[in-house]
Amino acid sequence: AGATNGLLPRPCRVMVLLNPQSGSGRALPLFRSQVQPMLTEANIAFDLFVTEKPTHAWDLVREEDMSRWDALVAMAGDGLLYEMINGIMERPDWRSVTQKPLCILPGGSGNALAASLNHYAGKGNFVKEDLLINCTYFLCKGLHEPMDLVSLRTASGRRLFSCLSFGWGFVSDVDIASERYRKLGSARFTVGTFQLLTTLQVYKGRLSYLPADEQSPASDSSFPTGTQNCPSAEHHQHHQGSFDNGTLPVRILLPPVPPSPREGGDLEDSLLVPFEQPVPKHWTVVPEEEFVSIVCIYQSHLGADLILAPNAKLCDDAIHLFYLTAGVSRMAMVKIFMAMERGTHLTLNNPYLHYVPVKAFRLEPLEPKGFMTVDGEVLACQPVQGQIHRRLTRIISG
Ligand code: ADP
Ligand code: MG
Repeated sequence: AGATNGLLPRPCRVMVLLNPQSGSGRALPLFRSQVQPMLTEANIAFDLFVTEKPTHAWDLVREEDMSRWDALVAMAGDGLLYEMINGIMERPDWRSVTQKPLCILPGGSGNALAASLNHYAGKGNFVKEDLLINCTYFLCKGLHEPMDLVSLRTASGRRLFSCLSFGWGFVSDVDIASERYRKLGSARFTVGTFQLLTTLQVYKGRLSYLPADEQSPASDSSFPTGTQNCPSAEHHQHHQGSFDNGTLPVRILLPPVPPSPREGGDLEDSLLVPFEQPVPKHWTVVPEEEFVSIVCIYQSHLGADLILAPNAKLCDDAIHLFYLTAGVSRMAMVKIFMAMERGTHLTLNNPYLHYVPVKAFRLEPLEPKGFMTVDGEVLACQPVQGQIHRRLTRIISG
């Protein structure tokens, strides 16, 4: 709010990327019938780019002449905006291009960012076409404000930028397993949740984090050699090999690959240390090593009607870390997910459900199980760490 707000110029021209496959496959007709007339009315000219395959948006945004556009719009689920953000961060001019406002028009089945923006604007819970119309109205008004991003590092050497969430375990598996119900729209997550509850799994891993309220130590660069905060430091030894290959024994890492000079440019992750080193000693290592689900979320909504972090803000410099430890009953999980529709799950005081706001985290799976997700997109199960970057980009908001 206040001085950090910006306003789209009028007239203006925006680049719209549309995923025709997102959600139940109706993004293009919805754009034509709902969005286009409103943009014309608001004096917003646009060029429409219909994506043809995964990573198409990523490549388009990386190569595009950005001087042509006042804003970049995704008409899709969260996955397309994730690709656009990563395309931007691979550009040599990422620092200036990240100041160009992004916009999400929900046309997918996973519309968590759109639902979060609605929530921040005090609009209550909207889904489907009502949510789309609200977000199109935001674009017509043209207000934009800064948004935090999380920089993620994988053990295989990738660097990814995420605007919504990172997860492993139950919630991620629901996201992936429910892909085949995408014709149902956002109801696919409800169906998937109940289906996966019947075969509840445990995921073994080590989770560490830098609490948001932890003061950084006097000398930030002195990496600890002690292990007093790390109950089982012997597990930190790593061996060469590929974690992505399901046939190999557990806890095996690729040798670190230097990040490509294009990925994220020269933006440093000052809170992270290499995977070969234990986490800094002022971090917290979670004593439990058996989880049902781990979700790092940086917006309020996990899905259009799932409010996982009701207090999250666009720009709160925090990763909201939620994890469910093993032992939680199926009935308790049903209760938690039902309460999440109103964002009241923490008031259940379930001892297996943990919440802590953090600045950075590291997750080291002790077995390669299932997949991980970044903004709803699939990532091979492997050690991942990340940190928040305040105000790294801008987004059209309510
Ligand atoms: P949803 O919310 O329904 O998952 P997303 O916009 O998140 O919709 O997109 C899901 C995936 O579809 C992304 O991985 C994206 O790369 C991919 N994608 C984009 N365009 C196409 C296309 N033309 N055909 C198939 N997949 C595509
Ligand atoms: Mg998606």
